[in-house]
Amino acid sequence: MFIDSHCHIEDDETAMRAYAVGVCGMLNAGKDVDEIAAQIEMCARFAQLRQQGKEAPLMWTSAGVHPDSAPQKLAQIKVEDLLKAAENPFVVAIGECGLDYYYGAEYQNEQKEMFVRHVEAAGISGMPIMIHQREAEADMLAILKEGKKKYPALSGVIHCFTSNQAFAEEVKALGFYISASGIITFKSAQDIAEVFKQYPMSKILIETDSPYLAPVPYRGKINEPAYVVKTAEKLAQLREVEVSEIERITEENFFNLYLKAKKNI
Ligand SMILES: [Zn+2]
Repeated sequence: MFIDSHCHIEDDETAMRAYAVGVCGMLNAGKDVDEIAAQIEMCARFAQLRQQGKEAPLMWTSAGVHPDSAPQKLAQIKVEDLLKAAENPFVVAIGECGLDYYYGAEYQNEQKEMFVRHVEAAGISGMPIMIHQREAEADMLAILKEGKKKYPALSGVIHCFTSNQAFAEEVKALGFYISASGIITFKSAQDIAEVFKQYPMSKILIETDSPYLAPVPYRGKINEPAYVVKTAEKLAQLREVEVSEIERITEENFFNLYLKAKKNI
């Protein structure tokens, strides 16, 4: 099955459309741990349908605070809040979280402090961390290296990877995964595509980050998990393998990273 390893879905119909084209698993990424209840409810609705023998996708979610919200959330969200949310069986990752100096250049300190709390929560819980990174490579690596020192088993993924080969090498050395979004289908993103051509295939995930960043030929439209197949097709072309091979290995990679994600929910 195809798994959209990072999307933002608000309605069941969108997920069902993905299921209809073989995208049978989705990680509906949390952006604000205060609002995680709605995501958990959606996961539970689909799990219930499956238990009744009906057709429905597998869905999981994650507990985190997007770096865009770091200034507002800094005073409220503590490591304990993330850990508490992570106890739910549908929550399989800490995130999304990270550093975005493109949109939040004036809030770098708040973002760093918030990100460190997520690394702590991931380290303590043993759950992988789902990372958003934009134009903050040096600070990101410094925090992750510290985290690795303290928690050697720390694992995670740089979601929607848009950085360069040098950063990819550092991420690889940490043993982290990178995730390909629709961006790799853009003609303007050949350097990013090149990273995905070379990165260890056992450490690559695919995603839409929907509703943003629809892949070619849907570029400019509202993105949805069904379109993750287009990213898989591009990856197959880059790696010179069949799409079915990309489907198989990215599914395997997903379950290797997100150990708490089970197929029998
Ligand atoms: Zn996202």
